[in-house]
Amino acid sequence: MPESHNQTKPDHFNGISLLIPIFNEQHGIPDLWQSLEKTAASIDEAVEIVFVDDGSTDNSLEQLKALKSPHLEQQIIAFSRNFGKEAAMTAGLRHCRGQAIIILDADLQDPPELIPAMLEQWHKGFDVVNMRRKQRHGETWFKKLSAKAFYRFINHLSEDSIPENVGDFRLLSARVVDSINRLPERNRFMKGILAWPGFKQTTLEFDRPQRELGDSKWNISQLVALAVDGITSFSTKPLRLATWLGLSTAMFAIIYATWVVVKTLVYGESVAGYPTLMITLLFSSAIQLIALGVIGEYLARVFIEVKQRPIYQVAEHHHEQPLVSITER
Ligand code: UDP
Ligand code: MG
Repeated sequence: MPESHNQTKPDHFNGISLLIPIFNEQHGIPDLWQSLEKTAASIDEAVEIVFVDDGSTDNSLEQLKALKSPHLEQQIIAFSRNFGKEAAMTAGLRHCRGQAIIILDADLQDPPELIPAMLEQWHKGFDVVNMRRKQRHGETWFKKLSAKAFYRFINHLSEDSIPENVGDFRLLSARVVDSINRLPERNRFMKGILAWPGFKQTTLEFDRPQRELGDSKWNISQLVALAVDGITSFSTKPLRLATWLGLSTAMFAIIYATWVVVKTLVYGESVAGYPTLMITLLFSSAIQLIALGVIGEYLARVFIEVKQRPIYQVAEHHHEQPLVSITER
């Protein structure tokens, strides 16, 4: 059934929601489902699972639709094409109805067994439970290093601090989710968006296991795009940096120009000086291009925001009530 992107949530639900973005995970779904059912059975709250199928091209959606559980409430939101994990999480947060929402990856790299520990923190009154990775098993040194550099850089630039090594795996209380759902921007850099509302936070550490089945869906250019999105959506400092670069180059140019004028007046004009000329020219045009590029990145985002396009397009929405209600369990 088609629906608009800002459909309001259906009836009230007193349990917790597990939000899982799915993109071509057909090999992992059976294990995932088994693990979810086991975890759900071990906690007191009623559980709603919200799958967002991000335009999978394999058999994932059919598999999701075939999943039946006597106890779990289930929603499947299927996109009309692949919109990316950030869009999938945005959609999921708008449809989750639980009093606490936990975002999980489908590949069991965010172990569902940790959910009871997260809920325990929530019961203690925390609105956000961040899950920090102790080690990044099975990731290349390049990904580890670039991730580290990225967190350094973005936290240096932006005022809201984005916790290091905390992925999207986290628990959010309903009021945090409401607050996130009110953010209107199209640029969904979720690590920043999830951190934006604030509220009472705590962090648990965990060992992130390797991906067992299927492949990681990210390539280098996507990671670079994500990083640039993150920086430009949470800080305007690169623009200021461009201004400073321009100003300091101008200062340097004035001093150097004075020197050249004085030298010419005292010693007369000489034809030599090609290397200096060349270096100055290249240097100043490089600075200009960098500054233009930075402005371009922001302008591109302003362009995307003013278009006001929806963040995703839903093709199908299924909602299954459990066969047995929680009280009969
Ligand atoms: N994912 C998604 N849309 C995408 C790419 C990934 O919904 O375009 C989902 C994917 O199915 C998984 C989660 O996002 O549930 C994390 O993806 P992945 O394991 O590839 O990322 P990594 O763990 O390598 O950061
Ligand atoms: Mg993964």
